[in-house]
Amino acid sequence: MHEMSICESIMRVMEDQAKQQDFRHVSAIRLEIGPFAGVELEALRFSFDVVTRGTLADGCQLEVIETEARAWCLPCAKDFHVEQRFDPCPDCGSYQLQVMAGEELRIKDMEVN
Ligand SMILES: [Zn+2]
Repeated sequence: MHEMSICESIMRVMEDQAKQQDFRHVSAIRLEIGPFAGVELEALRFSFDVVTRGTLADGCQLEVIETEARAWCLPCAKDFHVEQRFDPCPDCGSYQLQVMAGEELRIKDMEVN
């Protein structure tokens, strides 16, 4: 499962940070996830619980901030909000678009102690 490997990478980041910043426990973490990141939130939460069990992030609260997807229209030379990946430009109907945001998956911050 793809979500499981995402959680394993998050776990590695938390362990590295714990070493660098000398904390023992992560009580909450906030992730920013774009609509095109291809992440199933329910699967992510499930995997997160499994991966963090018995670690420094045991019982850690996972908060997900869903970000907005944006695309750049080449003919109009401006960006707009997209709902679906292959939506055309709302102004000119063009499909010559470049997705600028929406595929991100990053750790925004975490609460540690
Ligand atoms: Zn356009």
